[in-house]
Amino acid sequence: MTCGLKGGCYISKSTSNISKKFQDILDGKKVDTPLVGTVTTAGILDLMDISGACRPEADRNPEQMAKLAASLHTDAKLEVIRIPFDVTVIGEALGCQIDPGTKARTPAVLTHPFEKSPEEFEIPADLLERGRIAVVMDAISLLKNDSGLQVPLVAGIEGPADLASYLCGMKLFLKLTLKKPEIAKTIIEKCIDTCIICANAYLLSGADAVVIADALSSPKLIGPDAFRQIIKPALIRFNKSIRGHSILHICGEVDSIIPDILECGFSAISIEENVKDLKYVIDYAHRNNTAIIGNISTSDTLYAKTPEDVRKEAFQCLDTNIDVLAPGCGIAPEMPLRNLLAMVKARDEYIEKMARVITLKYVV
Ligand SMILES: [Zn+2]
Repeated sequence: MTCGLKGGCYISKSTSNISKKFQDILDGKKVDTPLVGTVTTAGILDLMDISGACRPEADRNPEQMAKLAASLHTDAKLEVIRIPFDVTVIGEALGCQIDPGTKARTPAVLTHPFEKSPEEFEIPADLLERGRIAVVMDAISLLKNDSGLQVPLVAGIEGPADLASYLCGMKLFLKLTLKKPEIAKTIIEKCIDTCIICANAYLLSGADAVVIADALSSPKLIGPDAFRQIIKPALIRFNKSIRGHSILHICGEVDSIIPDILECGFSAISIEENVKDLKYVIDYAHRNNTAIIGNISTSDTLYAKTPEDVRKEAFQCLDTNIDVLAPGCGIAPEMPLRNLLAMVKARDEYIEKMARVITLKYVV
C-alpha cells in the first residue's frame, strides 16, 4: 500500500492493529505487549536525508512535514509518531517572533510580546489561521485522511506554562507566580484556552491524541506549589474541554508531582530518564488507569551512546512495565538513526524473550 504523499511511502500491513492497541493503552486497558514510538519532537538529520524533507521546510510546509513524519514510521520503524518537530508553533501564532532555524537547528522563540504588559494578553479571534497552526492541521490530514497511515499520530502543543513564558519571558512569569499569583493564574487560564482550541482543531483534523509539552512545569523550575495552585487547575479544565485523548510531557524529575499530574485526567504521561523511581511512577500511574510513555535518555544514550547501550536501557524500561517505549524527551537533530532503530529492535527482542519464557512455563 502506498500513501498519497509526493514520492509515496510504504505502509506495513502489520500496522493494522497498532492504532487499536494505542487506543487501548490510552483507554487504560491492559495490552499484551508494549508499543514503541515517540510523542516528543523527533526531526532528525538522518531521516531528513532519507526522506528528502528537511527543515525549515518540514516545519512550514504541510507536505514536507507529513513526509518527514511518515519517515519516522517507514524508515525508523516507530509505531507511534508525532508532529510538529518543534515546540514554538502556538507561541508564533500568539505573536512571538521565531528564529525559523536551519536543517540542524530547531526553531526558537526570539521575542516575548507581552513582557511589558502581561495582563494585556488576549487570544486572537483568528488563532487557527495564524502562523503554522494550519500547517500542522493540514499535515495531520495528509497523514491520516489522505495517506491512510495506519500508525497512531500524536499532535504536540506547547503547554500553558511554556506558552506563558514565551509571551512574558520566563523570568517575569516565574516572578509573577511568586509575587502576583493571581496575574499568573489569569495568564495561565488564557494560555490553556489557547491549548484547548488548538488541541480540538488537531483532534478534529484526525490526530489520535494530543500531547502537551510543558517544560517549565518541571518541579525544578516552577516548583511543586505553583504547579498545584496555578497549573494543575488549568490542566484539569483542559482535559474536561477536549474531544479526544491527551498526553502530558513534563521534563525532569517529576516524582514529587506525579499524584497531582494523575489527578489532571490525562490518558498517558511521557516522562524523562531523570525520574527518581520509575517503578513507583509506573505502578502509581497504572493504579490510576494512566499509561506511561518513555523514558530512554535522549541527551545521553540516544544522542551519544551505542545501539548496545540503547538496548540495555530499553530492556530496563521494559522490565518496569512501560506502555510505550520512547525517547524520554525531544530528540536532538544529530541523533543517529541507528539508535532509534536499536530502540525498536530492543522492544522486538524483549517481546520474543517474553514469549519464550511463557512457552517454557507451559512446557515445564
Ligand atoms: Zn522533556
